[in-house]
Amino acid sequence: MLAALPRRAASAMPSCASAFSAAARCRAYSSAAKPTLGFIGLGQMGYPMAANLARHTAQTHSLLVHDHDAATAARFAAAHPQSASVAESARAIAERADVLFTMLPAGKHCRSVYADIVEGLRHDALCVDCSTIDVATATEIAKWVKAKGAKIVDAPVSGGTGAATAGTLTFMVGGTAADADTARPFLEKMGKNIYHCGANGTGQAAKICNNMMLGICMVGVSEAFTLGKNLGLAPTLLNQILNTSSGRSWCTDTYNPVPGINPNVPASKSYAGGFGVALMSKDMGLATAAASQTQTPIVLGAAAEQVYKRVAAEKDCKGKDFSVVYQWMAAAGEK
Ligand code: NAD
Repeated sequence: MLAALPRRAASAMPSCASAFSAAARCRAYSSAAKPTLGFIGLGQMGYPMAANLARHTAQTHSLLVHDHDAATAARFAAAHPQSASVAESARAIAERADVLFTMLPAGKHCRSVYADIVEGLRHDALCVDCSTIDVATATEIAKWVKAKGAKIVDAPVSGGTGAATAGTLTFMVGGTAADADTARPFLEKMGKNIYHCGANGTGQAAKICNNMMLGICMVGVSEAFTLGKNLGLAPTLLNQILNTSSGRSWCTDTYNPVPGINPNVPASKSYAGGFGVALMSKDMGLATAAASQTQTPIVLGAAAEQVYKRVAAEKDCKGKDFSVVYQWMAAAGEK
Protein backbone atom coordinates (compact mmCIF):
# COMPACT_ATOMS: atom_id res chain seq x y z
CA MET A 1 0.00 0.00 0.00
CA LEU A 2 2.74 2.41 0.93
CA ALA A 3 4.50 1.84 -2.36
CA ALA A 4 1.27 2.69 -4.20
CA LEU A 5 1.23 6.22 -2.83
CA PRO A 6 1.98 8.83 -5.47
CA ARG A 7 5.65 9.65 -5.64
CA ARG A 8 6.76 13.00 -6.94
CA ALA A 9 9.94 13.90 -8.71
CA ALA A 10 12.12 16.38 -6.90
CA SER A 11 11.59 18.84 -9.75
CA ALA A 12 7.85 18.85 -9.07
CA MET A 13 8.32 19.93 -5.46
CA PRO A 14 6.95 23.41 -4.80
CA SER A 15 9.56 25.82 -3.52
CA CYS A 16 9.77 26.24 0.24
CA ALA A 17 8.58 29.58 1.56
CA SER A 18 11.10 31.91 3.07
CA ALA A 19 9.71 31.25 6.55
CA PHE A 20 11.47 27.86 6.48
CA SER A 21 14.69 27.69 8.40
CA ALA A 22 17.75 26.68 6.39
CA ALA A 23 17.89 23.37 8.26
CA ALA A 24 14.22 22.62 7.69
CA ARG A 25 14.53 23.58 4.01
CA CYS A 26 17.51 21.28 3.68
CA ARG A 27 15.59 18.40 5.26
CA ALA A 28 12.55 19.05 3.07
CA TYR A 29 14.60 18.81 -0.12
CA SER A 30 16.70 15.86 1.02
CA SER A 31 13.49 13.87 1.53
CA ALA A 32 11.94 15.09 -1.73
CA ALA A 33 11.71 11.60 -3.22
CA LYS A 34 9.62 10.31 -0.34
CA PRO A 35 5.85 10.60 -0.17
CA THR A 36 4.77 13.30 2.25
CA LEU A 37 2.62 13.04 5.33
CA GLY A 38 1.15 16.12 7.00
CA PHE A 39 -0.03 16.69 10.56
CA ILE A 40 -2.00 19.75 11.66
CA GLY A 41 -2.67 20.21 15.40
CA LEU A 42 0.09 19.17 17.81
CA GLY A 43 -1.75 19.42 21.12
CA GLN A 44 -2.09 16.96 24.00
CA MET A 45 -3.06 14.19 21.55
CA GLY A 46 -1.69 15.34 18.21
CA TYR A 47 1.90 15.71 19.42
CA PRO A 48 2.38 12.11 20.65
CA MET A 49 0.37 10.73 17.70
CA ALA A 50 2.52 12.59 15.19
CA ALA A 51 5.62 11.48 17.13
CA ASN A 52 4.67 7.81 16.62
CA LEU A 53 3.92 8.48 12.97
CA ALA A 54 7.32 10.15 12.54
CA ARG A 55 9.13 7.37 14.36
CA HIS A 56 7.57 4.57 12.30
CA THR A 57 7.66 6.24 8.88
CA ALA A 58 11.01 8.02 9.02
CA GLN A 59 12.51 5.68 6.42
CA THR A 60 9.59 5.84 3.99
CA HIS A 61 7.95 9.27 4.32
CA SER A 62 8.71 12.86 5.14
CA LEU A 63 6.42 14.59 7.62
CA LEU A 64 5.31 18.22 7.54
CA VAL A 65 3.77 19.60 10.74
CA HIS A 66 1.86 22.74 11.62
CA ASP A 67 0.25 24.14 14.75
CA HIS A 68 -1.17 27.53 15.70
CA ASP A 69 1.54 27.52 18.31
CA ALA A 70 4.70 27.85 16.21
CA ALA A 71 6.96 26.98 19.16
CA THR A 72 5.27 23.58 19.53
CA ALA A 73 5.74 22.81 15.83
CA ALA A 74 9.40 23.85 16.04
CA ARG A 75 9.91 21.68 19.13
CA PHE A 76 8.37 18.72 17.28
CA ALA A 77 10.59 19.15 14.21
CA ALA A 78 13.68 19.47 16.44
CA ALA A 79 12.74 16.22 18.19
CA HIS A 80 12.35 14.34 14.87
CA PRO A 81 15.14 15.71 12.70
CA GLN A 82 15.26 12.65 10.44
CA SER A 83 11.85 13.15 8.87
CA ALA A 84 9.91 16.11 10.22
CA SER A 85 9.91 19.76 9.21
CA VAL A 86 7.68 22.70 10.00
CA ALA A 87 5.32 24.02 7.32
CA GLU A 88 4.64 27.72 7.41
CA SER A 89 0.88 27.18 7.15
CA ALA A 90 -1.82 24.52 6.99
CA ARG A 91 -2.31 25.38 3.33
CA ALA A 92 1.38 24.67 2.62
CA ILE A 93 0.88 21.17 4.03
CA ALA A 94 -2.22 20.59 1.87
CA GLU A 95 -0.29 21.50 -1.26
CA ARG A 96 2.32 18.83 -0.60
CA ALA A 97 0.85 16.05 1.51
CA ASP A 98 -0.23 12.69 0.14
CA VAL A 99 -1.85 11.84 3.46
CA LEU A 100 -2.81 14.66 5.83
CA PHE A 101 -3.90 14.27 9.45
CA THR A 102 -5.79 16.85 11.48
CA MET A 103 -6.15 16.74 15.29
CA LEU A 104 -7.99 19.88 16.31
CA PRO A 105 -10.10 20.80 19.34
CA ALA A 106 -13.63 21.15 17.93
CA GLY A 107 -15.86 21.40 14.86
CA LYS A 108 -15.29 25.15 14.39
CA HIS A 109 -11.51 24.65 14.18
CA CYS A 110 -11.91 21.80 11.65
CA ARG A 111 -14.31 23.89 9.60
CA SER A 112 -11.89 26.80 9.47
CA VAL A 113 -8.80 24.67 8.71
CA TYR A 114 -10.52 22.63 5.97
CA ALA A 115 -12.10 25.78 4.44
CA ASP A 116 -8.57 27.17 4.27
CA ILE A 117 -6.83 24.09 2.85
CA VAL A 118 -9.44 22.48 0.62
CA GLU A 119 -8.50 24.44 -2.52
CA GLY A 120 -4.87 23.46 -2.07
CA LEU A 121 -5.37 19.73 -1.59
CA ARG A 122 -3.58 17.47 -4.03
CA HIS A 123 -5.82 15.41 -6.28
CA ASP A 124 -6.14 11.96 -4.70
CA ALA A 125 -4.69 13.08 -1.36
CA LEU A 126 -6.25 11.44 1.69
CA CYS A 127 -7.34 13.56 4.67
CA VAL A 128 -7.71 11.84 8.03
CA ASP A 129 -9.51 13.95 10.61
CA CYS A 130 -8.85 12.51 14.07
CA SER A 131 -10.57 15.37 15.97
CA THR A 132 -13.80 14.71 17.86
CA ILE A 133 -16.52 16.78 16.18
CA ASP A 134 -20.23 16.59 15.36
CA VAL A 135 -21.45 14.27 12.62
CA ALA A 136 -22.97 17.11 10.54
CA THR A 137 -19.67 19.05 10.36
CA ALA A 138 -17.73 15.85 9.56
CA THR A 139 -20.04 14.99 6.66
CA GLU A 140 -20.05 18.57 5.36
CA ILE A 141 -16.24 18.75 5.38
CA ALA A 142 -16.17 15.37 3.60
CA LYS A 143 -18.33 16.86 0.82
CA TRP A 144 -15.95 19.83 0.37
CA VAL A 145 -12.91 17.55 0.18
CA LYS A 146 -14.49 15.05 -2.20
CA ALA A 147 -15.70 17.87 -4.47
CA LYS A 148 -12.01 18.71 -5.00
CA GLY A 149 -11.16 15.13 -6.02
CA ALA A 150 -9.43 14.30 -2.73
CA LYS A 151 -10.47 11.70 -0.15
CA ILE A 152 -11.31 11.88 3.51
CA VAL A 153 -12.14 9.74 6.50
CA ASP A 154 -13.14 10.80 9.99
CA ALA A 155 -11.02 8.82 12.46
CA PRO A 156 -11.60 10.06 16.01
CA VAL A 157 -9.70 8.28 18.75
CA SER A 158 -10.18 6.86 22.18
CA GLY A 159 -7.55 6.08 24.77
CA GLY A 160 -6.30 9.41 26.06
CA THR A 161 -2.80 10.84 26.11
CA GLY A 162 -1.31 7.65 27.60
CA ALA A 163 -2.52 5.56 24.67
CA ALA A 164 -1.51 8.29 22.21
CA THR A 165 2.04 8.12 23.59
CA ALA A 166 2.11 4.31 23.70
CA GLY A 167 0.64 4.04 20.18
CA THR A 168 -2.30 1.99 21.43
CA LEU A 169 -5.25 4.24 20.51
CA THR A 170 -8.57 2.96 19.23
CA PHE A 171 -9.61 4.57 15.93
CA MET A 172 -13.25 4.77 14.80
CA VAL A 173 -13.17 5.31 11.06
CA GLY A 174 -15.95 6.76 8.89
CA GLY A 175 -15.60 6.82 5.10
CA THR A 176 -15.51 4.44 2.16
CA ALA A 177 -13.97 1.02 2.76
CA ALA A 178 -11.25 1.83 0.21
CA ASP A 179 -10.31 5.09 1.96
CA ALA A 180 -10.37 3.38 5.36
CA ASP A 181 -7.98 0.74 3.93
CA THR A 182 -5.64 3.46 2.65
CA ALA A 183 -5.62 5.10 6.10
CA ARG A 184 -5.17 1.84 8.02
CA PRO A 185 -1.36 1.33 7.72
CA PHE A 186 -0.82 4.85 9.05
CA LEU A 187 -3.38 4.48 11.82
CA GLU A 188 -1.62 1.27 12.84
CA LYS A 189 1.48 3.35 13.60
CA MET A 190 -0.55 5.25 16.21
CA GLY A 191 -3.10 2.77 17.46
CA LYS A 192 -3.85 -0.87 17.94
CA ASN A 193 -7.62 -1.12 17.37
CA ILE A 194 -8.99 0.23 14.11
CA TYR A 195 -12.72 -0.08 13.38
CA HIS A 196 -14.36 0.85 10.10
CA CYS A 197 -17.80 2.07 11.18
CA GLY A 198 -19.40 2.94 7.80
CA ALA A 199 -19.80 6.09 5.72
CA ASN A 200 -18.29 9.52 6.53
CA GLY A 201 -19.50 10.71 9.94
CA THR A 202 -20.03 7.25 11.45
CA GLY A 203 -16.62 7.33 13.15
CA GLN A 204 -17.78 10.48 14.94
CA ALA A 205 -21.09 8.80 15.83
CA ALA A 206 -19.20 5.95 17.55
CA LYS A 207 -16.89 8.37 19.32
CA ILE A 208 -19.78 10.51 20.62
CA CYS A 209 -21.44 7.39 22.11
CA ASN A 210 -18.15 6.32 23.72
CA ASN A 211 -17.46 9.71 25.25
CA MET A 212 -20.98 10.14 26.56
CA MET A 213 -20.48 6.86 28.45
CA LEU A 214 -17.04 7.93 29.66
CA GLY A 215 -18.37 11.29 30.86
CA ILE A 216 -21.24 9.67 32.75
CA CYS A 217 -18.90 7.06 34.21
CA MET A 218 -16.39 9.62 35.51
CA VAL A 219 -19.19 11.53 37.26
CA GLY A 220 -20.46 8.24 38.75
CA VAL A 221 -17.00 7.21 39.96
CA SER A 222 -16.42 10.67 41.46
CA GLU A 223 -19.74 10.48 43.29
CA ALA A 224 -18.90 6.99 44.63
CA PHE A 225 -15.50 8.09 45.96
CA THR A 226 -16.97 11.27 47.49
CA LEU A 227 -19.72 9.29 49.18
CA GLY A 228 -17.21 6.64 50.30
CA LYS A 229 -14.98 9.31 51.84
CA ASN A 230 -17.92 10.84 53.69
CA LEU A 231 -18.83 7.37 54.97
CA GLY A 232 -15.31 6.97 56.35
CA LEU A 233 -13.84 4.64 53.70
CA ALA A 234 -10.20 5.05 52.63
CA PRO A 235 -10.13 5.72 48.85
CA THR A 236 -7.39 3.12 48.24
CA LEU A 237 -9.39 0.40 50.00
CA LEU A 238 -12.60 1.40 48.22
CA ASN A 239 -10.72 1.29 44.93
CA GLN A 240 -9.39 -2.22 45.59
CA ILE A 241 -12.94 -3.36 46.33
CA LEU A 242 -14.42 -1.67 43.25
CA ASN A 243 -11.76 -3.15 40.98
CA THR A 244 -12.63 -6.67 42.07
CA SER A 245 -16.38 -5.96 42.08
CA SER A 246 -19.08 -4.94 39.64
CA GLY A 247 -18.29 -1.22 39.99
CA ARG A 248 -14.97 -1.60 38.11
CA SER A 249 -14.41 0.54 34.99
CA TRP A 250 -11.64 2.32 33.08
CA CYS A 251 -12.29 5.28 35.42
CA THR A 252 -11.52 3.15 38.49
CA ASP A 253 -8.70 0.87 37.35
CA THR A 254 -6.80 2.96 34.78
CA TYR A 255 -7.73 6.65 35.04
CA ASN A 256 -8.84 7.05 38.62
CA PRO A 257 -9.90 10.62 39.50
CA VAL A 258 -8.62 10.37 43.11
CA PRO A 259 -5.05 11.76 43.39
CA GLY A 260 -2.41 9.11 44.10
CA ILE A 261 -4.37 5.99 43.19
CA ASN A 262 -3.03 5.53 39.65
CA PRO A 263 0.46 6.93 39.10
CA ASN A 264 1.06 8.98 35.94
CA VAL A 265 -2.57 9.95 35.36
CA PRO A 266 -3.64 13.62 35.46
CA ALA A 267 -5.33 13.15 38.88
CA SER A 268 -1.91 12.33 40.35
CA LYS A 269 -0.35 15.38 38.69
CA SER A 270 -2.71 18.11 39.95
CA TYR A 271 -5.05 17.23 37.05
CA ALA A 272 -2.56 18.63 34.53
CA GLY A 273 -2.53 17.40 30.91
CA GLY A 274 -4.90 14.69 29.74
CA PHE A 275 -8.34 15.38 28.31
CA GLY A 276 -9.39 18.92 29.11
CA VAL A 277 -12.65 19.40 31.01
CA ALA A 278 -13.71 21.93 28.36
CA LEU A 279 -13.27 19.22 25.69
CA MET A 280 -15.36 16.78 27.72
CA SER A 281 -18.01 19.46 28.14
CA LYS A 282 -17.92 19.91 24.34
CA ASP A 283 -18.31 16.15 23.77
CA MET A 284 -21.25 15.91 26.18
CA GLY A 285 -22.81 18.76 24.19
CA LEU A 286 -22.26 16.76 20.97
CA ALA A 287 -24.05 13.81 22.60
CA THR A 288 -27.04 15.81 23.81
CA ALA A 289 -27.35 17.56 20.42
CA ALA A 290 -27.19 14.19 18.61
CA ALA A 291 -29.76 12.79 21.03
CA SER A 292 -32.19 15.62 20.42
CA GLN A 293 -31.72 15.31 16.62
CA THR A 294 -32.53 11.59 16.81
CA GLN A 295 -35.10 11.94 19.62
CA THR A 296 -33.09 9.60 21.83
CA PRO A 297 -33.80 9.90 25.57
CA ILE A 298 -30.45 10.33 27.41
CA VAL A 299 -31.29 11.21 31.00
CA LEU A 300 -27.83 10.55 32.46
CA GLY A 301 -26.00 12.04 29.46
CA ALA A 302 -27.97 15.27 29.83
CA ALA A 303 -27.32 15.41 33.60
CA ALA A 304 -23.60 14.76 33.13
CA GLU A 305 -23.43 17.51 30.50
CA GLN A 306 -24.71 19.99 33.11
CA VAL A 307 -22.05 18.83 35.58
CA TYR A 308 -19.19 19.30 33.07
CA LYS A 309 -20.51 22.71 32.01
CA ARG A 310 -20.34 23.86 35.64
CA VAL A 311 -16.94 22.29 36.29
CA ALA A 312 -15.47 23.74 33.07
CA ALA A 313 -16.58 27.22 34.18
CA GLU A 314 -14.96 26.93 37.66
CA LYS A 315 -11.83 29.03 37.99
CA ASP A 316 -9.93 26.26 39.83
CA CYS A 317 -10.80 23.66 37.19
CA LYS A 318 -10.13 25.57 33.97
CA GLY A 319 -7.55 23.92 31.71
CA LYS A 320 -7.48 20.77 33.83
CA ASP A 321 -8.21 17.17 32.93
CA PHE A 322 -11.88 16.18 33.03
CA SER A 323 -11.25 13.91 36.06
CA VAL A 324 -11.04 17.18 38.05
CA VAL A 325 -14.80 16.64 38.40
CA TYR A 326 -13.86 14.54 41.46
CA GLN A 327 -11.97 17.43 43.09
CA TRP A 328 -14.91 19.75 42.41
CA MET A 329 -17.38 17.25 43.83
CA ALA A 330 -15.23 16.35 46.83
CA ALA A 331 -14.87 20.06 47.68
CA ALA A 332 -18.64 20.53 47.41
CA GLY A 333 -19.25 17.42 49.55
CA GLU A 334 -16.66 18.28 52.23
CA LYS A 335 -18.05 18.02 55.74
P1 NAD B 1 -5.48 20.40 22.45
O1 NAD B 1 -6.28 21.63 22.69
O2 NAD B 1 -4.44 19.98 23.42
O3 NAD B 1 -4.75 20.49 21.02
C1 NAD B 1 -5.29 21.11 19.89
C2 NAD B 1 -4.13 21.70 19.10
O4 NAD B 1 -4.67 22.24 17.90
C3 NAD B 1 -3.41 22.82 19.83
O5 NAD B 1 -2.02 22.58 19.81
C4 NAD B 1 -3.77 24.07 19.03
O6 NAD B 1 -2.74 25.04 19.02
C5 NAD B 1 -4.01 23.49 17.66
N1 NAD B 1 -4.87 24.30 16.80
C6 NAD B 1 -6.08 24.82 17.09
N2 NAD B 1 -6.57 25.47 16.03
C7 NAD B 1 -5.64 25.36 15.04
C8 NAD B 1 -5.56 25.81 13.70
N3 NAD B 1 -6.53 26.53 13.15
N4 NAD B 1 -4.45 25.51 12.99
C9 NAD B 1 -3.44 24.79 13.55
N5 NAD B 1 -3.47 24.32 14.81
C10 NAD B 1 -4.55 24.61 15.54
O7 NAD B 1 -6.55 19.23 22.24
P2 NAD B 1 -6.30 17.65 22.37
O8 NAD B 1 -6.48 17.25 23.78
O9 NAD B 1 -5.06 17.28 21.63
O10 NAD B 1 -7.60 17.12 21.60
C11 NAD B 1 -7.69 17.19 20.18
C12 NAD B 1 -8.96 16.46 19.76
O11 NAD B 1 -8.88 15.10 20.22
C13 NAD B 1 -10.23 17.05 20.38
O12 NAD B 1 -11.25 17.01 19.43
C14 NAD B 1 -10.53 16.13 21.55
O13 NAD B 1 -11.91 16.10 21.85
C15 NAD B 1 -10.02 14.80 21.02
N6 NAD B 1 -9.55 13.83 22.04
C16 NAD B 1 -8.77 14.23 23.08
C17 NAD B 1 -8.35 13.27 24.01
C18 NAD B 1 -7.47 13.66 25.18
O14 NAD B 1 -7.30 12.83 26.09
N7 NAD B 1 -6.91 14.86 25.22
C19 NAD B 1 -8.70 11.94 23.87
C20 NAD B 1 -9.47 11.57 22.76
C21 NAD B 1 -9.88 12.52 21.85
